[in-house]
Amino acid sequence: MKYVAEIHSLQCPKCHHGMEEVSYGNLKVDRCTNCHGIWFDTGEAEALKERWMGEALDTGDPEIGKRWNEVEDIDCPHCGIRMHKTSDPSQPHIWYEVCDEHGMFLDAGEFTDYKYETLLDKFRDLVTGQRSA
Ligand SMILES: [Zn+2]
Ligand SMILES: [Zn+2]
Repeated sequence: MKYVAEIHSLQCPKCHHGMEEVSYGNLKVDRCTNCHGIWFDTGEAEALKERWMGEALDTGDPEIGKRWNEVEDIDCPHCGIRMHKTSDPSQPHIWYEVCDEHGMFLDAGEFTDYKYETLLDKFRDLVTGQRSA
């Protein structure tokens, strides 16, 4: 699988550098050229999570991502409204910012985490199921 990247005008809500549009199959996400955080339009993260190798998009250094994770109070790059921090109920250690209308922002490394934890959770369910059977 290949992806193409092109610079466009969306600004990173965390560090305000430019973001590049990255295509993966028929999905497009916006990745910051500086902190490598990723913007997902509503529904895109869920769609990508289902695909193998979707983490090819998440090329940032998770250590740097962790540092940017400390940055809170960010505004939606589309509407400028303050985003709220939320966590996935099944993966409470991952926090990300959400605009209800436009989408969500994950720091570098978080998407990979998000995706793998989900697979791991499925695996755990499987193991638990076998044990109790
Ligand atoms: Zn950034
Ligand atoms: Zn918005």
